[in-house]
Amino acid sequence: MPHLLMIGECMIELSQSNELGEYKQSFAGDVFNTGVYIKRCLKKSAQVSFLSVIGEDKMSSQLLSLMASEEINSRYLYRCKSNKMGLYIINIDHYGERTFDYWRENSAARQLMKLIKQDNSKMDFSSFTTLFFSGISIAILSSEDLLDFWKFIEDRRAHGCQIVFDPNYRPALWHSPQHAKEAFEIAYSLSDVVLPGVDDHKNLYHHESAAEVASHLEAKGIGEIIIKNGDLEVLISVDGKRTQIGITPVTEVVDTTSAGDAFNGGYLSARQSGKSVKDAVTYAASVAGCVIQHKGAIVPKTSFYAAIIPLV
Ligand code: ADP
Repeated sequence: MPHLLMIGECMIELSQSNELGEYKQSFAGDVFNTGVYIKRCLKKSAQVSFLSVIGEDKMSSQLLSLMASEEINSRYLYRCKSNKMGLYIINIDHYGERTFDYWRENSAARQLMKLIKQDNSKMDFSSFTTLFFSGISIAILSSEDLLDFWKFIEDRRAHGCQIVFDPNYRPALWHSPQHAKEAFEIAYSLSDVVLPGVDDHKNLYHHESAAEVASHLEAKGIGEIIIKNGDLEVLISVDGKRTQIGITPVTEVVDTTSAGDAFNGGYLSARQSGKSVKDAVTYAASVAGCVIQHKGAIVPKTSFYAAIIPLV
C-alpha cells in the first residue's frame, strides 16, 4: 500500500465570517491541505502521514482531532513545550479583496529538524513510498536545519522513496530571492516529480510562460514536471515530452486560496492509483475546481464527495 509522508506546517486559520468582524477558526497549511485531499481521494487504499511539530496546548490538540477525522496518521507529529502552532488571519475588505496577516515567526513547526535529531525513540521513516514538501516547508527552517533537511531527503531518496516538490514561493518567508533560488535549486535536484505554478517562477525567476518554466526544469533532468497556471492549460513534461491539458474555467469562483494544494492532492492520488499523467491532471483539475467553489482551504467532506468520486 502507498504510504505518503507530508512535511510542512499546519497553522490555525481565522477567517472573517461576517460584517460584524466575527471570525471562524479552522486549520490549514499547503502540504497539510494536500494530504487531506489525497486521503479523501484514496481513502483506505493509501496511508497519509503528516511530519511536523505542534504545541502542547489545546488548539494543537484540536488539530489532532481534525487529523483523526480525516484519517491522517499523527504518529510522525512531534509536540513541543516551548512553541505553539503558527496562526494567520484572513481579512476581507468591502470589495471582497482578501489580505492575510501571519503570526508564524516562532511557530512550533520551525523546530522540526531539531526534534528529529533529539528524538530518542528514533522514528522509522523506512515505510514511506512518496514524500511531499514545498517551498514553505523549507522557508521556515534555519540555514543549519535546512542542511539536515537535505540529508533527510537524500537518505529517503536513496532508499527508493519518490520525492515530490511544489515551490509555492512566498517572498515574505525568505531573506532574499537569491536565498530562495538556492534552496529551490537543491529541492529540484532532489525531486522526481515537481508541481510548480507559473506565478512562482514569474516572481522568482522572471520566467514569462509555462514553456520557459518547463525548459528550466527539463534542463535539470526532472522526469515528471506538471506546471499549473490558474484557469489556463496545465503544461506537462514527461521525460522531456511536452503536452498541454486544457482546464474548464469555473464560473462561480468563491475562494482560490488552496487551488494549487487541492490540485496537488488530486494529482498525486491519481498517480498513486495508477492513472497516466494526463488522466491524473484531469482528475486534479476537477478536485481543484471543486475546492475553489467553496470557502476555506479544506472544504467540508459532504461538499467534496458531492463533486468528486474517490479513486477506489
Ligand atoms: P496556485 O494556488 O498554486 O496559485 P493555480 O492558481 O495555478 O495554483 O491553480 C491550480 C489549479 O487550480 C489550476 O491548475 C486549475 O486546475 C485550478 N484552477 C485555478 N483557478 C481556476 C479557475 N478559475 N477555473 C478552473 N480551475 C481553476
